[in-house]
Amino acid sequence: MTDLRHRWDQRITDWPTVSKIASDLGMRGQGRHFYCPGCQPAGGSSPELKIHDGGFECFRCGMRGDIVGLVKLANNCDLEEAIQWLESETGEHLEPDND
Ligand SMILES: [Zn+2]
Repeated sequence: MTDLRHRWDQRITDWPTVSKIASDLGMRGQGRHFYCPGCQPAGGSSPELKIHDGGFECFRCGMRGDIVGLVKLANNCDLEEAIQWLESETGEHLEPDND
């Protein structure tokens, strides 16, 4: 499962895809800055969570991680559910490497 997570992180690197995922996760913000689902669920004066290529970081609560981690945070779900969400979001199914 860890390997599969890595593959998804490698798959989702381009900003248009990341941006669409953030929007479909219900995240609101400006540009690459979004309100943090962890510490700003009701919004706030300024969006403190920045999404960069391949990951995110919140400058308010310090939460950071990869794109799969962002799905987990926003949906408040576990890794398996996050990957299922990404599959339905992208219409893709990635297989873990066997080696
Ligand atoms: Zn935060």
